[in-house]
Amino acid sequence: ESLINRIAAGEIIHRPASALKELLENSLDAGATTIRVTVKDGGLKFLQIQDNGCGIRQSDLPILAERFTTSKLSTFSDLSKLTTYGFRGEALASISHVAHLSVVTKTRTSACAYKVHYSDGKLVPAQRGQSEEPKPCAGNDGTTITIENLFFNAPTRLSALRNTSEEYARILDVLTKYAIHNSKVSFTCKKAGSPSPDLSTPSASTTRHAIKMLYGPSIEKDLLQVTVNENKNNEESWSSEVYLTNVNYQGKKMIFLLFINSRLVESSRIKRAIENVYTGVLPKGAAPFVYLSLRIDPQSVDVNVHPTKKEVHFLNEEEITVQICNTLQAKLAEQSQ
Ligand code: ADP
Ligand code: MG
Repeated sequence: ESLINRIAAGEIIHRPASALKELLENSLDAGATTIRVTVKDGGLKFLQIQDNGCGIRQSDLPILAERFTTSKLSTFSDLSKLTTYGFRGEALASISHVAHLSVVTKTRTSACAYKVHYSDGKLVPAQRGQSEEPKPCAGNDGTTITIENLFFNAPTRLSALRNTSEEYARILDVLTKYAIHNSKVSFTCKKAGSPSPDLSTPSASTTRHAIKMLYGPSIEKDLLQVTVNENKNNEESWSSEVYLTNVNYQGKKMIFLLFINSRLVESSRIKRAIENVYTGVLPKGAAPFVYLSLRIDPQSVDVNVHPTKKEVHFLNEEEITVQICNTLQAKLAEQSQ
């Protein structure tokens, strides 16, 4: 049974950056305004995320890492709204099957923080002979989640991830993208023991400023902003916010950030369509910057997408993509005149 759990977990948690993505989304869901990430050995040895969000109640801690445990649905009708990406209530459970997971958390109303350790979905003692019960400790409001020795029990997976600087680059990439999408939230990321962060954003910033800080002024100075939305019967059926450049920046590949309902996702169809928009605008092989945030009815996102599939699909995908691309094309044409 534990082998099956481990395999299932490995389909959700591919590498340190995918664990981080899950933890980031949890911190953002918890309303955090500051998120601090600390990394050792590309996140394989140690990956910690500290937030100032709502915290977790002591009484919820025993089942926190059980599969399908989520505080994010209260009624059955919520289910279709929130199961959009197919792995609700599975992130912490999955991590606990492939790593040593510990949590320190404090809600605003609690007098102290509590510390717990998990393994295979269950509370475990910090050390043999001790109790597994939540241990009162000092701590600030919010939650600190620590993942140690990721894939310690999956040697094949671990040996495929030996390049710790590549894993660290992927962590920074995920954080950079979330920092742009959540420009009001302050993010930092540093290597354990290092005095200065490798990534640091202020709180209460704007998308434009965040792009400038993270991708450099050369992108920001040519940045165009476009909103595209569709109103049917006076009701907004979807909307999108786009920041894009009409010039080549110094990179080699298009930088493409796609958020659907605030989740970082991939869609090769949308990516290809955007690349086509640039045909004739930029020289072949040019590398623009595009950030696209799309809001659609959560019920129209494919709920049956298996976690191994990173590609997202949704209702009226073709139609929505065409409308966005037409608007972008017009905007770029207008600029080049
Ligand atoms: P999901 O996010 O799909 O609910 P997870 O396994 O990612 O499932 O998390 C399980 C539960 O743990 C969440 O529903 C939430 O109640 C709680 N949780 C996890 N991380 C945090 C956090 N940083 N702050 C507050 N609560 C959290
Ligand atoms: Mg989650």
